[in-house]
Amino acid sequence: MTECRGRVLVVDDNELIRRLATTLLTKKKYEVATAINGIRALSSIDTFSPDVILLDVMMPEMDGFECCRRLKEHAATRDIPVVMVSSNTEAIDKIKGLETGAADYIVKPFDYGELLARVATQVKMKHLLDELEKKNALLEEMVKKDSLTNLYNHRYFHGRLSEECCLCSERRETLSCLVCDIDHFKTINDTYGHQAGDTILQSLAEIFLKMICIDDVPCRYGGEEFAFILPRTGSEQAAAIGEQIRRCVEKTGFSFGETEIFITVSVGAASYPAANARTYSELIRCADEALYTAKQRGRNTVVVSL
Ligand code: GH3
Ligand code: MG
Ligand code: MG
Repeated sequence: MTECRGRVLVVDDNELIRRLATTLLTKKKYEVATAINGIRALSSIDTFSPDVILLDVMMPEMDGFECCRRLKEHAATRDIPVVMVSSNTEAIDKIKGLETGAADYIVKPFDYGELLARVATQVKMKHLLDELEKKNALLEEMVKKDSLTNLYNHRYFHGRLSEECCLCSERRETLSCLVCDIDHFKTINDTYGHQAGDTILQSLAEIFLKMICIDDVPCRYGGEEFAFILPRTGSEQAAAIGEQIRRCVEKTGFSFGETEIFITVSVGAASYPAANARTYSELIRCADEALYTAKQRGRNTVVVSL
């Protein structure tokens, strides 16, 4: 099958125009859907998702101006280019169409070549815009994530924790934060090599993603240190989750080639709000201090800040 050049929704109450436009566009490898007025056009967009809409101005029930206004009102349809098609040759009508948000305006009876050229331009623009949006979404995701583990990064952690603390205060809820650090990771690197260390960090991230709830926010805080934001979680529950993580890591063998490597983690937990954690930075300090205590107590242990 030859490739479709784009999807065009032809909206016109005149059957002849609908047929003519359909024939012209289909011949040029566009996929075409038609609608007889603005209301039908709006309801067909979800299923057809056009790259461009050829929109007649004068139609019963809902005219082209109103239909275009509604398209531009909603985020989901705002970016679909509208080419208005009308027998009104007055500049004032063209201006009204463009002011309503139309990308272009064609006067009926239209020249076939001109119609096709204008559709082609708008389809090209729409495809470029779609590509740009996809790249932007990818970039937005990359800015939030750590490239080695695909967990959220340090910067995202701070922004998100600060937001979650605000929400918590508003809703009079409690959240907890876990800080988790691999024990003697330098020795692991020194013994098995840096690449083995990287593989462990990646596998550990996968384990974390499987273990935590959908609302929890797993982050790579830095080097071999991870942090978790646990919304609607008190200190007892946080300690239990920390213990689950500690135990799971302890019994997991991390494969690197033929070698199976065992590691342990130390975990510090703190909750917000609490007497010693009235702000989000105090919360981080408490969790860090708890982690430090866990290291002091011999590692492979969970300490809750109280
Ligand atoms: P402790 O139990 O006190 O935490 O000891 P540790 O050796 O884990 O702590 P230390 O802070 O002395 O060393 C951290 C090590 O983590 C050293 C560093 O090379 C390693 N590390 C940090 N980031 C990465 C990384 O991205 N990849 C690898 N392979 N190693 C890393
Ligand atoms: Mg460490
Ligand atoms: Mg460390």
